[in-house]
Amino acid sequence: MRYKVAAIVPAAGSGKRLGSGDKKPFVLLAGKPLVTYALKALDSSKYIDQIYVAADPDSIGRLKSVIEKYGIRKVVKVVAGAVTRAGSVKNCFDLVDPSFDIVLIHDGARPFPGESDIMNSVLLAARFGGSVTAIPVTDTIKLAGKGLFVRKTIDRSSLWRAQTPQAFRYDIFKKAISGTKNISNVTDDASMLERLGKTVKILKGSPRNIKVTTKEDLKIAEVLI
Ligand code: C5P
Repeated sequence: MRYKVAAIVPAAGSGKRLGSGDKKPFVLLAGKPLVTYALKALDSSKYIDQIYVAADPDSIGRLKSVIEKYGIRKVVKVVAGAVTRAGSVKNCFDLVDPSFDIVLIHDGARPFPGESDIMNSVLLAARFGGSVTAIPVTDTIKLAGKGLFVRKTIDRSSLWRAQTPQAFRYDIFKKAISGTKNISNVTDDASMLERLGKTVKILKGSPRNIKVTTKEDLKIAEVLI
């Protein structure tokens, strides 16, 4: 069965942690604006039908020109982002037609989503309601208490680091996002389903699918290219 899939790309973050003169989506990675990598991957995916992007309100025009320049054809809307990531996602989701089966959310700051990640995210969302790409935690995790003294060591065998893509059945995500009162506290989309007691299946992702947050990440991304 071929699902109708809308991709949502939050790309409205301030990018302060990157410490660059330019806004994060436009910072050059191997000569191209960072956000074009995520958009190109979704654009050329056979599982994605439409793309909605959230941008900083001052950058909407600029982002539209970049999208045109790089020949990204599936973007149907560039909307103003919100103060928080979840708010930016909501601003996009509100425009997605209910005839879509699945929404797939992918950070604009993650340049290397694989086609198989996109495919499996969609298939698992269709089957289980929600899916989150994640990688197993390899470091030992300490829970810190007051004064930065270790309270305990957490068993890492069941810990996963969440990435994107994350995908959801449209109807379930609609319920989750409209039922979430304090959307500003939400750092990942899947947690809105978890709060409702809905299933979210983990899809083992790739360590290559990094999020560019700091200058060091940008260097790593260049090496990965
Ligand atoms: O802040 P964080 O690193 O989790 O951001 C992940 C993605 O969400 C980035 O692509 C960023 O541009 C986007 N974002 C957004 N609106 C915000 C904050 C972050 O679209 N208010």
